[in-house]
Parts: sequence; C-alpha cells; structure tokens
Amino acid sequence: MLTCGCGRWMHTEGIEERAGEGGAPQWFIRSECRGCGLKVGVDVPEGQTYGLVDRLLWTDEALHRLDRMPPYVAVLVRDEVEQDIRRQGQRVVTCETLLRPRTGERLDWDPEAERRLERVPAPVRAMARIELERTAADRGLSRITVSLMEEIKAKYFGMAASK
Ligand SMILES: [Zn+2]
Repeated sequence: MLTCGCGRWMHTEGIEERAGEGGAPQWFIRSECRGCGLKVGVDVPEGQTYGLVDRLLWTDEALHRLDRMPPYVAVLVRDEVEQDIRRQGQRVVTCETLLRPRTGERLDWDPEAERRLERVPAPVRAMARIELERTAADRGLSRITVSLMEEIKAKYFGMAASK
C-alpha cells in the first residue's frame, strides 16, 4: 500500500497498459490521496503491482473495450471476467484477460463457423468470438462448431441476431 505524505492511504485510481523499454509491457498505476488530493503514478512491469492496486481494477484499455460492447453483452462479460480474475487471485483486468478464453489455449474453428462469424455485425463479432471460445473452454472442447455457435447466438446474442 502507498501512504501519502499527509498520512492517509493512497487510493488506486486507474491503470494504463503501456510499452516500456524494448516494448516490454508495463502498467502505469495512478494513485490519489483523497485527503489532500496528491496524485502519483508509478510504472511497474506488467503483472507486478507491489501492493499498489488496492482492489479489482480494469485497465483503461480494457474498460474502453468493455464500453464499446453492447450493454447486455458488457454486463455478462464483466461479471464473468471479474469472477475469473478473483478465482486466479489477481486484481487487474487487462485487454488480454478480456480477449483470451480462460484456459489460454488456442481453439480451432470449423471453417463454416469461421465464415459465419465473418457475417456477424462488426460491433458484436469480437464479443461473439470471446463468448464462443469461453464456452468451448468451459466445456473442454477444442473446436468451435456451427452448432455451438447456434447455441451461443440464442443465449447471448438473441437480440442482435433476431430480425
Ligand atoms: Zn494526502
């Protein structure tokens, strides 16, 4: 924890994902004293918070992606991602957290499933991909199929898919 010169705990305000020297990923952690208003920022290697993050936080970049999702998708994604992060004993949600299925394994896509995904409207496509890969990972599947796609579409994207 960071303590301000005035004696109060400093509050974590936000985290930016940055590239440091040699392109190594870094986090810029912003903290603020709510007593006297002092603000500080610290660069740390990605994943090493040195106790500077006082609660579960999304990086600015991850928040930006969440903000661009359709609201009904964002709610589902936020809950699921935060549960994952807590389960892993972590506190920071990054873009990568958001875009990776939780196993971190690469999944194969059936060509037909891939073609169908291309026809999904762009604002929903990225989220459709995430939900499909997460669901497949949850079930221990290594392949995204058209039937899984139909199921997900009905569950999460019914509003977007119905005409
Ligand atoms: Zn202070």
